[in-house]
Parts: sequence; structure tokens; C-alpha cells
Amino acid sequence: MTATRTPGLPVVEDGMLLSTNPATGAEVGRFPVASADDVAAAVARAREAGRWWASLGFAGRRQRLLRFRSLMANRLTDLAKLMHDETGKPVAEAIVEAAGAIDHVAWAARNARRVLGPRRVSSSLMQAEYSSHLEYLPYGVVGVIGPWNYPVLTPLGSIGYALAAGNAVVFKPSEYTPAVGQWLVDVFAEVVPEQPVLQVVHGTGEVGSALCRSGVDKLAFTGSTRTGKKVMAACAETLTPVLLECGGKDAMIVDADADVDAAVDACVWGGMTNAGQTCVGIERVYVADAVYDEFLPRLVERAGRLKVGTGDDADIGPITMPGQIDVIRRHISDAIARGGRAVLGGVDAVSPPYVQPTILVDVPEDSAAVQEETFGPTLTVARVRDADEAVERANGTVYGLGGAVFSRRRGLELARRMRSAGFGRIHGEDGLHELSRAKAITKRRMRSVLPALSFDRTPKTVNRIVAAVKLLHGRSR
Ligand code: NDP
Repeated sequence: MTATRTPGLPVVEDGMLLSTNPATGAEVGRFPVASADDVAAAVARAREAGRWWASLGFAGRRQRLLRFRSLMANRLTDLAKLMHDETGKPVAEAIVEAAGAIDHVAWAARNARRVLGPRRVSSSLMQAEYSSHLEYLPYGVVGVIGPWNYPVLTPLGSIGYALAAGNAVVFKPSEYTPAVGQWLVDVFAEVVPEQPVLQVVHGTGEVGSALCRSGVDKLAFTGSTRTGKKVMAACAETLTPVLLECGGKDAMIVDADADVDAAVDACVWGGMTNAGQTCVGIERVYVADAVYDEFLPRLVERAGRLKVGTGDDADIGPITMPGQIDVIRRHISDAIARGGRAVLGGVDAVSPPYVQPTILVDVPEDSAAVQEETFGPTLTVARVRDADEAVERANGTVYGLGGAVFSRRRGLELARRMRSAGFGRIHGEDGLHELSRAKAITKRRMRSVLPALSFDRTPKTVNRIVAAVKLLHGRSR
């Protein structure tokens, strides 16, 4: 007799991790679960591979990474289909996600030398006899742990930048998306067949935990805040540096002078894309009193037209992780029990594996639907006096990953006042810096005029240093 499986819920059978489609339950792939020894062996191989990869230099790595991104671009629809099969997200959404990841790999490849390469930095006048250089070297081996909700964009953010910086990578994809993780690693191996510069280890959280303790030189994690804390604690045991990208409860502010149509469009997409399973998805909306009555019906009308399902015409797919359904249901029913009203959807909108778009109003600010990450196609909308009250309320949760502002006159000012951006950096110049270590080298190029860093200095030299410090820094401006 075969046990009934919950579609989408990964299972381990005979040492193999099985991933299934969350809408249909069809098997997507099966992969060997790594033991702690397997993880250690992968890291040992990566150490050797990392030395070789670093020796290719910026130009060699750039060439390989650009070929990698070109293979991904040319196979974009295959990749998107696999992402659809494994997460349930519509193919169009998968294409948009993968396109972003491809762009990032190209950017990291093209900019690594400029951002990380050696450069001269000026010396202080007090130590003018030294010339100084700064460069950013690879850590060696970077461990990457990824989530399931954006199984290409989020891990490749860390992986692409780590590789461009000259590191080898051992990647543990989410147990919900092992096939997508394997696809990325296999395609990379086509352009780098010589050494296992990018490896994958499959399994559940235990494998992630083993990777944290495996002696990697840095660990880049993207996932929930709860697991992020465990990762940080595990890495602290060996003082392994960590890069954490965790959850959010992002707010949107709609000011009295906002372009209401543009705000509605962005709000529906920002809240409902990927069925709301987005770290920087909009979950709370604060609308100035002056436009609230215009904004809300348009939002409800637009969100109500979204198609939910698994077919080609669907805007929203299933909830990928079956366990998340309970969180979404709890947030909606708690909000309603505490005086909130569903102006679209509601408790009945939850019909596993799908959740229909749901918009809640009059929800108390201290309820779970406003304070905790819901990760479903739901929005709470609150009427506020003005944009200043909106900022105050937007800043009223412990989360602060991203945010959105619609205002004609005060957009930048309000955006600056929103408390957002976690402490992990994975993209752009900051991302490259996170995945490399700064190395400063100074070189003495002439005899010292003020030999301060020597026990041979004389009282006369010390007097000169005092005079020089007063001259250089004694003024108040
Ligand atoms: P989880 O925290 O459940 O899992 C993330 C990864 O960590 C998975 O690969 C998971 O493995 C692994 N893991 C689980 N337990 C441990 C452990 N003890 N030690 C090490 N690794 C472990 O997150 P989800 O996959 O559910 O992803 C959704 C979350 O990610 C949301 O909170 C979302 O906001 C956040 N996120 C943040 C982003 C950002 O850029 N800030 C981007 C995307 C998502 P397994 O799956 O096998 O359990």
C-alpha cells in the first residue's frame, strides 16, 4: 500500500529526496540526500577547486560566467518550465525571476575587477612615506543556503557574486526546489568542466546545518528569520562570517497626491506576485484619507480579476509549501475575529493548495496579519490621516526589508524615512564586497620624515609629531 502524499511536500525515501509539483503532486525529481561526511567532502573538493578558480583571475572568470549566463538565457524557457513544475509559479513569473538572475550574473562578471581589483589609496600626510593598496580577495569556499520561493534569483544572487569574486561555492537548495538547484549547478559545470567550482548538496535543514559547521569560509543564507537565527548561532561556533537575507513585512504608502492607478497596479503585483510568497512583497498598505475611497474599490476590482490555478492563463499559482497554508488561514481568521473585514476573499479563499486574493480592512495594527510575515496573496489596507502617519505605522513592525511609496511631491523623503533594508547585501558593489575580504597592503617608498612607528624615534621627533597633528587637525573646521 502506498501512503498518500501531500502534493509539494518533499519526502525522503531510501536516502533520496523526492520533490513534487505542489498543484498536481507529480514527481519532479529525486536526488541523493547528503550526509555530514558528504558535505565535508564537497567542501574539501571546493577548497582545491577554489584555488584553481581564483587563479583564472578576473578575466578568466568573467569569460566563464558570461558563458554561464548565456547558456541560461538560451535555455530560459526550459528553466522556467522546471521552476513552474517544482514551485507551481506561473511560467511567466518564472521567466521574469530567472531574467533578473541572469542580469545579476552578467553584472557581477563584468564589474568584479572594477569593484574588487587592486587600487592605490592615498596615504595620510602623517605617513606620506608609505604607498597604500587595497584589494578584495576571495574567501575561498562560500556555502550558500537558498529558499524555495525564488529558487533561481535568490541563490544566484549569492552564488553569482561569490563566483565573480573568485570563490568556490557549495550550494544547498531548499528541499522544496532541489531540481532547480541541480539544473543551475549542471549548467555551470558545462562551462567549467575542469573543477567542481560550484557543487550542490541536497537534503533537509540538517544538511544546511552541516554546511554551517563544515568549515566554509563564509556562509550566505537566504530564508526565514527563524532559520536565519539558527544559521547565525551555528556559524558563531566557529566564527564563520555570515550573510543573512531573511523575511519581511513590507508596507506600501499611498499619499494624498499619488497616481492612484499606478499605485493600484503596483500594489496588486507587489502583494500577489508569486502568490504573495515574496520576501519583499507588499503585505500592508497605508492609504491617505484623501484617496482611500478611490484606491480601495479599484484595488479590489483589479485583484479580483486575477486568475488562480496551474494553467497557462493563471496569474497566481498554488502555495508552494503546504505548511504555509495554515499560517495564511490563521492570519486571515485572526484578523476577522479581531474586527477586520474581508473586502475580497477571506477565510473561504483558502482552498489548498490555492489561496484566492484576499484584501482585509479595519485590521488592528497589533494582529498577526499586520505584524507577522503572511507569505500569501493577502493585503491589509488601512486608512491613515496622511503620509506621516503612514510612515509611523509602516515602521511599527520588527521587520524592515523593503517598502514602496506612491507620492508625487514627497516620494523620496517618505522613502528615506521608512525603516527598511536588512543587514545582508547580495547585489551590486556591496554584494561583491560581502563575498570577498578586504586586503590592504602598505609599502614604504622612502625614508620617514617623521619616523613615528619606531622605538628609535627621538623626543625631537615626538615634538614634531605634536606640531604636525596640531597643524593638520587643530582647527575646528
Ligand atoms: P527556511 O528558513 O525554512 O529555509 C531556508 C533554507 O534553510 C532552506 O534551504 C532550508 O532547508 C534551510 N534550513 C532549514 N533549517 C536549517 C538549519 N537549521 N540550518 C541551516 N539551514 C537550514 O525558508 P524558506 O525556504 O521557507 O523561504 C522563505 C523565507 O525566506 C521567507 O521568510 C522569505 O521572506 C525569506 N526570503 C528572504 C529573501 C531575502 O532576500 N531577504 C528572499 C527570499 C526569501 P529545507 O528547505 O530543506 O528545510
